[in-house]
Amino acid sequence: MGKIKILPPHEAQKIAAGEVVDRPANVVKELIENSLDAGASHLILSCHDGGKKSITIIDNGCGMSPEDARLAILNHATSKLQSVDDLQAISTFGFRGEALASVAAVSHMTLTTKTAEAVEGIQLTLEAGTMVAEQASACNTGTSLEIKDLFYNLPARKKFLKKEETEWHAIYHMLQALCLAHRKCTFTVHHNDHLVLHAPAANTLQERIAQIFDAQLATLMIPCTTQSKDGSCSVTGIVSHPTHHRYDRNQIFLFVNNRWVKNHKLGQALIKAYASILPARRYPSAALFITIDPLLVDINIHPRKEEVQFLHPRLVEEAVEQMVHAALQAKTSQDLGKKAHVPHHASPFAQQTSAPQPFQSKNNSGSTPFAFATPQKSSTNTWSFGAKKETPPQPHVLTTNYNPPDQEIDLPSLSEENSIQNSIYTAPESALQDHFEYQLIGQVHTTYIIIETAEGIVLIDQHAAHERILYELFAQRFTNVATTQLMFPHLITLTPHEGSLITPWLPLFTDHGIVLEPLNEHQFMLKAIPVTLKNVVIEELLKTTLNLVQENNTLNQTELSTLLHDQLRAMMACKAAIKAGDVLDEQQMHELIRKLHATENRMTCPHGRPTTWKLSVNDIERKFKRVE
Ligand code: ADP
Ligand code: MG
Repeated sequence: MGKIKILPPHEAQKIAAGEVVDRPANVVKELIENSLDAGASHLILSCHDGGKKSITIIDNGCGMSPEDARLAILNHATSKLQSVDDLQAISTFGFRGEALASVAAVSHMTLTTKTAEAVEGIQLTLEAGTMVAEQASACNTGTSLEIKDLFYNLPARKKFLKKEETEWHAIYHMLQALCLAHRKCTFTVHHNDHLVLHAPAANTLQERIAQIFDAQLATLMIPCTTQSKDGSCSVTGIVSHPTHHRYDRNQIFLFVNNRWVKNHKLGQALIKAYASILPARRYPSAALFITIDPLLVDINIHPRKEEVQFLHPRLVEEAVEQMVHAALQAKTSQDLGKKAHVPHHASPFAQQTSAPQPFQSKNNSGSTPFAFATPQKSSTNTWSFGAKKETPPQPHVLTTNYNPPDQEIDLPSLSEENSIQNSIYTAPESALQDHFEYQLIGQVHTTYIIIETAEGIVLIDQHAAHERILYELFAQRFTNVATTQLMFPHLITLTPHEGSLITPWLPLFTDHGIVLEPLNEHQFMLKAIPVTLKNVVIEELLKTTLNLVQENNTLNQTELSTLLHDQLRAMMACKAAIKAGDVLDEQQMHELIRKLHATENRMTCPHGRPTTWKLSVNDIERKFKRVE
């Protein structure tokens, strides 16, 4: 007897269903799209257990007649196409009449619906795609669908569902995209009976962003629009100001003909526009809408139509990159116009009472952007570190065991986690030797400190250096961070969804000196902060942590905790560190050099950028061709 058997239709249907919907987020997407197609202006979604236990969607769309309702749940039933002549529409819009039948095949489904004309509606109950009950229903115009126990009859598929939070995040992420694309619709969303989102119809994209992300971010978004060179596609959207950035790409949303899509290259084009503006591995937030002739785009490369391929990808990518680039340039020059002076932040690393003074030669006119000091051979400017036997020429004798007055502790060895990329920075020894004497030359471009050593000159990136110093300090101190109790606790409001994500991590924040007390599920009182930080940045740290938690939901608790600890101290170091543009006086520069010298991993900042760059006399001589 032959081995090949034809699967019974209901088995084949179950398997096919898994291609259309493979997790609760896809079910939600299909159902919401149906509601939107039905003209709904208000959608209520309610999920339990990340959608695994139940998904209910209620809409106020046009509803279905009893006959249509009975047909809708059959395979290849669609009101959106008339015949195979409309095949183009199938490939361009994805109407395949499969979603309802597929979902029904792998769940317990209840469909309740009524049209405006009908006096009463109808309720159909299905088990694994088979109708088990039909009854009249006194319901409102519109449709409600209840899906229970997804994949209960397909254990192989069910096994692959992730834990509750992971499935829920996938749903929530998708909802954000749908909210952006359909801003005239009101979305009300509950998870495990908690209201997690209420986004009334919005007039602008900014308004929508304020509802689904946060109000502050919305004010930082820059609207932009353009056309591709050949005019075949138009791009409009909104991108974040360069001062806002994130550790992940979760807030980059791309839409083609108003459908949320993924297209790596297009995302890269956007990121490229920020290339020299954002720090390495930081990403903007954006929502970009591409309108293009459906014939110039293929949405069928992915069974769930999540990926798209353009016929002429470069044209679209170029349009995006140039548009965003131009928008950022315009914004930056507008901002510069507003504040023409060099910003000066008080330096947190050394509380000097004297006003900081840029190191400049006295006879400098001040009109040049920066000025090298005439190297002062006077001994007051010569400093010496290390266990040097002979007495240094001047009163300031420092050793590698230096203990700064604010009781920074000696730092133990840490693994060199930041691999150093460029060989120019990978001198086997630190540019700052264990023992060295140096002469401070000064600060240039209010960003770099230059010192002269016996071997040559060393440039120090003041921000990167200070970041590293603080990062190592926080690593040591993290269970005992010096904190300031806030006289007036600061209220932080998150969305309920964010609140539920952050709550398990409150002890981690406490460990870092950020003391947050929950008031309810989405509001927190900020009671104490590390002395090095201002409370304004705490909200940003919270948001970034939230994104990290969401992005890394596949990690186990210990891995995630290590990652968060690491990122949190990197963020705190970045926030608290002196910035490029901060004017430093001599005292502050010496202090920074001294602390850097006593710091582990001092070759790079926590983001992997070099802190110092040594140019040996030999390098200089070679450059000037004094030697071969
Ligand atoms: P498709 O959306 O590709 O047509 P579906 O299986 O998703 O296929 O839906 C089948 C049909 O059921 C739709 O064409 C539509 O006529 C009807 N339908 C589904 N959901 C709704 C809804 N929420 N409101 C009104 N009609 C709906
Ligand atoms: Mg559909």
